[in-house]
Amino acid sequence: MESRQVYMDHGATTPLREEALEAMMPYLQDKYGNPSSIHSAGREARKAVDEAREKVARALGAEPAEIFFTGGGTESNNIAIRGAARLKKGRGHLITSAIEHHAVLDVCKDLEQDGFKVTVLPVDSHGLVELRALEQALGPETFLISIMTANNEVGTVEPIGEIGALARERGILVHTDAVQAVGQLPVDVKKLNVDFLTLSAHKFNGPKGIGALYVRKGIAVSPVFRGGGQERKLRPGTENVAGIVGLARALELAVAELPQKTDHLTQLRDRLIAGLLRIDDVTLNGHPTLRLPGNVNVSFNYIEGESLLLSLDLQGVAASSGSACTSGSLDPSHVLMAMGLDHQHAHGSLRLSLGRGNTVEDVDYVLSVIPPIVQRLRKMSALYPQ
Ligand SMILES: *Cc1c(COP(=O)(O)O)cnc(C)c1O
Repeated sequence: MESRQVYMDHGATTPLREEALEAMMPYLQDKYGNPSSIHSAGREARKAVDEAREKVARALGAEPAEIFFTGGGTESNNIAIRGAARLKKGRGHLITSAIEHHAVLDVCKDLEQDGFKVTVLPVDSHGLVELRALEQALGPETFLISIMTANNEVGTVEPIGEIGALARERGILVHTDAVQAVGQLPVDVKKLNVDFLTLSAHKFNGPKGIGALYVRKGIAVSPVFRGGGQERKLRPGTENVAGIVGLARALELAVAELPQKTDHLTQLRDRLIAGLLRIDDVTLNGHPTLRLPGNVNVSFNYIEGESLLLSLDLQGVAASSGSACTSGSLDPSHVLMAMGLDHQHAHGSLRLSLGRGNTVEDVDYVLSVIPPIVQRLRKMSALYPQ
């Protein structure tokens, strides 16, 4: 097969779509007013921010006053979790899961250092948070549960609606990191029963460095950052007007295109999984059905993930791995380890995350280049039974 460039790392980031760039351009050039200024240039920028807030609210089933623009997913997670905890003055219990993004896990660990009690829930072998463990962890001091809508590494979709209902009954707040879900799954804050929801534009073909936090009406949060009065003091600092406009445009289009995109990605995903599982000693990581439409994660036994990534890169394929070296730490992916994988399988993992630009030809190309690479790497492996 003729060689080609295939980007299958949409879980890491996505390309900025043309329509979002077009919507942003005026605010990077002529319409440079500060939304806080009272002159017409300022009012023009303010209007753009207000309209974007309405679009984002509509996309999530929220009200505009419940949407706060932030500097991205990491920032939204910090503002929600730290902001809710700050009101508790160092006392209380929060619950999260072992497969969260570090922007949730590390915040919870920090709060533990500050005196909060933290429960990190285990997951099953498919990466699903166990509701029974969650119910058992609830106590009189529990004030917040933070569980992701869908996992970025293995694509498992968590039962947030049920978790939300269970928490609401008990007056416990729920935050969900929906960075991977927004633009890939229908996301409605009312159906999810959540109080806080995090999203990030660069995961749905918007620009990087801009995100949003949904905060349910009437829920108090103490600001982490101090400064001006922007975003009703929850996220002070001059608004990233172009980023906000690009986020809203990308989100509005992603939501409108969701049914077709879901069908397209699900077909590509299932073709890719079926093809990969035809190779010897390959296992699928994550849930067989409760899975993001664009996520494929497999482990190749007897292979190092980073060797596989380097070989794939030489063939024009961009992917990622849960092996240690790629994450810059000594341990392999905390997500795969929490699911009970042994070190060998965790080190040999490969994530191919599909996005709107991918085609059947891309999938078939990847399926044609992987088997010879795997065969070659296994021949060099001391562990492989020759
Ligand atoms: C990418 C990602 C983040 C971080 O978002 P940034 O906008 O890059 O800070 C957080 N959570 C999940 C699940 C992600 O996939």
